[in-house]
Amino acid sequence: MAEFDYIIVGAGSAGAVLANRLSADPANRVCLLEAGKPDNSALINTPLGIVGLLGTKTYNWYFNTEPQRHLNNRSLYWPRGKTLGGSSSINAMIYIRGVPTDYDRWEQAGNPGWGWSSVAPIFKAMEHNERGGDALHGEAGELNVADVVHPNPLGAVFLQAAAEAGLAANPDFNGPVQEGSGPYQVTQKAGKRFSSARAFLDAIKTRPNLTIMTETRARRVLLAEKRAIGVEVQSPRGIERIMARAEVILAGGSINSPHLLLLSGIGPRDEVERAGIQLRHELPGVGRNVQDHLDYAILIKDLSKQAIGIAPGMAPRLIKAFMEYRRDKTGLLASNVAEVGGFARLTPESAEPEIQFHFLPSFLRDHGRKRTLGYGMTLHVCQLRPKSRGRIGLKNADPMADPLIDPDYLSEPDDLAELMAGVKLGRRILAAPSMAAISGGEVEPGAAITDDAALEARIRAQAESIYHPVGSCKMGQDPMAVVDDRLRVHGIAGLRVVDASIMPTLIGGNTNAPTMVIGEKASRMILADRNAPPTEAAA
Ligand SMILES: Cc1cc2nc3c(=O)[nH]c(=O)nc-3n(C[C@H](O)[C@H](O)[C@H](O)COP(=O)(O)OP(=O)(O)OC[C@H]3O[C@@H](n4cnc5c(N)ncnc54)[C@H](O)[C@@H]3O)c2cc1C
Repeated sequence: MAEFDYIIVGAGSAGAVLANRLSADPANRVCLLEAGKPDNSALINTPLGIVGLLGTKTYNWYFNTEPQRHLNNRSLYWPRGKTLGGSSSINAMIYIRGVPTDYDRWEQAGNPGWGWSSVAPIFKAMEHNERGGDALHGEAGELNVADVVHPNPLGAVFLQAAAEAGLAANPDFNGPVQEGSGPYQVTQKAGKRFSSARAFLDAIKTRPNLTIMTETRARRVLLAEKRAIGVEVQSPRGIERIMARAEVILAGGSINSPHLLLLSGIGPRDEVERAGIQLRHELPGVGRNVQDHLDYAILIKDLSKQAIGIAPGMAPRLIKAFMEYRRDKTGLLASNVAEVGGFARLTPESAEPEIQFHFLPSFLRDHGRKRTLGYGMTLHVCQLRPKSRGRIGLKNADPMADPLIDPDYLSEPDDLAELMAGVKLGRRILAAPSMAAISGGEVEPGAAITDDAALEARIRAQAESIYHPVGSCKMGQDPMAVVDDRLRVHGIAGLRVVDASIMPTLIGGNTNAPTMVIGEKASRMILADRNAPPTEAAA
């Protein structure tokens, strides 16, 4: 039976960082388990390949939610990365940190050491920003952060229109101020996607003390009383056991980590027992507190024909794009599509932006799975700090089945009010003179939608996830917390959760970089605890 010091379940944004840091000491034997295949794919490496990744299951868990009672009972699509790099291998590559108060809120919620003053130096240390380092940015870290190599001219039109609508220009959303409109920086290097696997695994994959097992899926955590001692996995060889001398670290992401805890008998009694699983440790918060950024997309036609569209004129542009990308990794294929955007406050009194915009020089419906003919543009509008909370649960006891996913979007009325206000602001931007000059009219929600009731109906009919579920194994000290501030599962020794699921509340922005920081901070704590094993959980 294989035995390691540390078993990391999941090679995603956090898991890749953990594997790198924990195996840096040759004395630690580390096993990194990944359910998905290796990531040697042109679709992953080529930024525009995201369109293909979202429509297929090869590198994607392809989850769907329960019917959402406040969204016309629609089931929403939740893609998640299933390969080395996890969701950072299929995401839109936007590099965003959030604002200081996001992290100060975590600290105030009973998590010492997670405030902005603690995490800001970690963001900086992990970063290699191609613009160079400064007080806030790093240039010595492994994570390459770049400007988009070949921006679409429509992005500049959007930024001009945003300025005309009152959203001032901001060249750096990760600078001193987040508010404003501007270019996104991306986790790319030389025109290629730079996932957590590129940043943190490539250089260290051959360490003799690190074993990476792909296509190996953890089925449950093995427990001896209240201590984690290993994991049972499904690998190409069948069902096996892998043992951990020191710790099992779950880094499977906001959906799979709580699912794995529930499958292991750790969670709310009713949830576990209803599925016919023996309760090993009652922990009522597992899978609860799920939060996500709900997003509504405004679509307009582009008369300038500079958009990426399904139209006869695209053929020569695509041929040129393939040649450019083959030659030097520039051109359209190097685009993450969501090249520019913005952060807006809804009232002058707001302490932080409540709304984020992602502008796409293309029609985008149903995550790109539904094609729309012609040239168009899409403005995604999402509400950054929803109050609605949902749950990840068990559909049954089968470890290979999808979990139950119910984010219960818009269960808090304030969320709808903020999203509506954001959509109205988005419509004002798209109607501002620079954009109006090239607009062929609004396709969604459409000119006929003029009053609040009609707009609300469109939101309920069309809103989708913009891919940032967090909170399902939240960190804290209250009865619904799943892990403590050192990310140790309450009441179980030798078990941590280290991924986006531990965020007690959503940050104001995209969640990849913050999750890598969680991986880095956790690594430091795990290494510090190595000679003084966690005692809180065992007590
Ligand atoms: C389509 C999309 C677009 C996004 N765009 C952006 C963006 O532009 N910018 C941004 O900042 N964020 C973006 N995000 C969000 C961001 O990528 C995620 O928040 C982040 O990657 C989550 O990291 P994680 O470590 O929690 O989980 P993941 O990165 O999802 O990693 C979990 C890993 O664990 C593996 N795993 C799960 N269960 C098991 C098991 N039982 N056994 C073995 N392995 C397992 C998975 O296959 C996966 O590789 C996007 C996400 C998606 C899906």
